[in-house]
Amino acid sequence: MSEPFLIIFDVDGTLIDSQAHIVASMERAFATIGLPAPSRAETLSIVGLSLPVAMMKLAPNDASAHPALVEAYKQAFQDLRLSAQGASFAPLFAGAGEMLWQLHQDPRFVLAVATGKSRRGMEHILDLHSLRPIFASVQVADDHPSKPHPSMVETCLMDCAIPPERAVVVGDTIYDVEMAQAAQTGAIGVAWGYHAVADLRAAGALSILQHPNDLIPALAQRWSL
Ligand SMILES: [Mg+2]
Repeated sequence: MSEPFLIIFDVDGTLIDSQAHIVASMERAFATIGLPAPSRAETLSIVGLSLPVAMMKLAPNDASAHPALVEAYKQAFQDLRLSAQGASFAPLFAGAGEMLWQLHQDPRFVLAVATGKSRRGMEHILDLHSLRPIFASVQVADDHPSKPHPSMVETCLMDCAIPPERAVVVGDTIYDVEMAQAAQTGAIGVAWGYHAVADLRAAGALSILQHPNDLIPALAQRWSL
């Protein structure tokens, strides 16, 4: 059989609908530090970046407050997670779980994760949704520079011994598309996440999925499967 293809997934906004959790945590973090909270749209625009980079964008004039904001955000996120009932703060998007299992059971594909989430946050998601067996490589913000740096994708490629031309990143933000380009893989955008489809296209996404069911046809088109 021929070599497999590697599908590298972003998590927040692509697999998991975490916007309620992220927006509430950001509002709490800014309140804790005594700064006016960013708007919902501003907060959603930074999802996927690591926290120090995100705070630079959200509070550009308060650099001295960034370390405290990062810590306050982490604390708020954890407090809300522990207070939330079950998966209500981090549900899978409709169809995303089924898509992952279908791809996992298909010998043509190997799956991986490149996320701006922390190791602790990602471990929680893997357990919450029983996704641990799905991914051959899981790369998180703790161990890499923020997207769009290609480090996370390059590590997935190395872990799985798959060359970039046989890999694709699936994500909802321009940071995912730019990260994929920097690593010389293609990128496929999703229309249900936190950045506008027009921006994903302009950044160079090869195609845009309207539903998780569209992924296998998009992969088939990319590689003439
Ligand atoms: Mg995302």
